[in-house]
Amino acid sequence: MNYYSLHHKAPKVSFKEAVIKGLAPDRGIYFPENITPLSDEFIQNIDQYSHEEIAFEAIKQFVGDDIPNDILKEIITETLSFDFPVVPIEDNIGTLELFHGPTMAFKDVGARFMARCLGYFNRDKEEKVTVLVATSGDTGGAVANGFLGVKGVDVVILYPSGKVSEIQEKQLTTLGQNITALEIDGVFDDCQDMVKTAFLDTEIERTLTSANSINIARWLPQMFYFFFAYKAVHKQHKNIVFSVPSGNFGNICAGIMAQKLGLPIQHFIASTNVNDTVSNYLENGEYVPKKSIATISNAMDVGNPSNFIRIQELYNNDLATIKQHFSSYSFTDSETKAAMKAIHNQHNYIADPHGAVGYLGLKNHDLQGAYGIFLETAHPVKFLPTVESTLSLKLDIPSQIQEIMHKEKHAIQAADYDDLKRFLNT
Ligand SMILES: *Cc1c(COP(=O)(O)O)cnc(C)c1O
Repeated sequence: MNYYSLHHKAPKVSFKEAVIKGLAPDRGIYFPENITPLSDEFIQNIDQYSHEEIAFEAIKQFVGDDIPNDILKEIITETLSFDFPVVPIEDNIGTLELFHGPTMAFKDVGARFMARCLGYFNRDKEEKVTVLVATSGDTGGAVANGFLGVKGVDVVILYPSGKVSEIQEKQLTTLGQNITALEIDGVFDDCQDMVKTAFLDTEIERTLTSANSINIARWLPQMFYFFFAYKAVHKQHKNIVFSVPSGNFGNICAGIMAQKLGLPIQHFIASTNVNDTVSNYLENGEYVPKKSIATISNAMDVGNPSNFIRIQELYNNDLATIKQHFSSYSFTDSETKAAMKAIHNQHNYIADPHGAVGYLGLKNHDLQGAYGIFLETAHPVKFLPTVESTLSLKLDIPSQIQEIMHKEKHAIQAADYDDLKRFLNT
């Protein structure tokens, strides 16, 4: 399988090259040249397949010959070592819980898959690859955990000092080994800018790659759980609408890929906080990126979602087609808190702020008899102060989190790009 750059000014590359490069040399993100739907028979008989078998069927055409089937199956089995339950909330609404992995957010799936692919590609190389990643919270922890101990790969995580939750900070600063955290005196946008500058800097003496959802090995495995959710509910519910809490739009874009592969999904809703670039675009046809605004659903504070260009490509760059399959609604923090309270009071379920935004997307949409599934993208404990104060309760701390809370933080302080460059070149 070959991948082309969505800026169309760079050569096509294989899966392996696209994973190692992250971004194309023309700064475009990669997109698969062909998408071949799975057989109707496979979809109809999905009940007979395990999660691992479904994931293998979904992704094998995108990996092609770059990883042998038996190794790919091993990678998938290791990636998917936890549950993906659909929990009923209302008669016509359920939530797909994606937080049962080691860092308790959906990014574990993509990070674990990508780490193992990169580990395989670098299995006997002398030269190391450095994964350089900026995080607003959850990516850092998932990438640190996923890549811990992977041979031939060093990980450098940039995070904004004081802008991530205590749990998120512990998850990315306490592991050691091949993982280094750089605590940046700035906001997320500063971290992101420093990473982008490093990728363009020819004086950096390391091979750099990205582990954000622009990387196809982080992005594509997110298709899997749309299949799992379909498998879980399709006997009871014919028409399914997914509401995906969205920031960089990688997760929802993976859902659209699953639909392209033949998964019967009726409609997609991209639910966002007040960072509403996409809902504005659907409304008035003008795509105007904005500076990101800080909210209580901080993992979605993105003003220029990098994967939206992939969604446009999937819908033939046609606004009318996009609107037919895809809606986007934006919600304020006070609406989000009210939804968290309503879900708790009426249905006895604790949603995190991101999941609550997803729930609001379904409530705002005319489901016309369809079954709505919102993605619970993180465990509520990751947003402890917001959840506890909004719902006036105390959360139990799961064992994964308890384990890291008493570990010592190790981070290197960095003020500007020169500090990062000095670190990378020594
Ligand atoms: C990353 C993240 C999102 C946004 O996902 P995208 O793929 O960037 O749209 C939503 N919720 C949580 C909890 C996240 O960590």
